[in-house]
Amino acid sequence: MSRTEAEIAGLMADAVEFSLHHVEAGGLPFIGVLVGDDGYVSDFGVNEVARTGDPTAHAEIVAMRTAMHDLGRSDLEGSWLLATGEPCGLCYSFALDHRADRIYVAVDGDAVTGQGFDYGGSYAAFGIDRAQLAGIIHRIPVARGLAPFERYLDLRHRGISTRPPSSTHPKGTS
Ligand SMILES: [Zn+2]
Repeated sequence: MSRTEAEIAGLMADAVEFSLHHVEAGGLPFIGVLVGDDGYVSDFGVNEVARTGDPTAHAEIVAMRTAMHDLGRSDLEGSWLLATGEPCGLCYSFALDHRADRIYVAVDGDAVTGQGFDYGGSYAAFGIDRAQLAGIIHRIPVARGLAPFERYLDLRHRGISTRPPSSTHPKGTS
């Protein structure tokens, strides 16, 4: 049974709300979640680079690893990755290597870059040509998609956040 676009949009809206709460708690606005066509939904993945010291623990990769652990599998066939912000090259590369069927993005990379997260260079670094991913990447705008990114910047500018992108995102990754 395949999920409907409306269901995916609802899950994405939930991820965006979770992202807002996560930002208020000092986290980054990138959230990843994996959904399967059998009804599986992973926990929300958050960036755990600073907490774990693992430079690959981007939110989307955390969600994908959680899904493979939960499902007892080494690939993501039949699963879709939802990301509140367009993933960086590392995360795209991970999703493609593990054969995720689709990637849904609430806010695309250009808009995220407009919010100060510039990781465009990571695409070339990981051999990702976004133009060639047209059949895999699906944009699914949600009403408050930009809000977590704007709120993150707002907190940062006011000196409330102690984790600016430069410390947790040395290369501006998701
Ligand atoms: Zn990433």
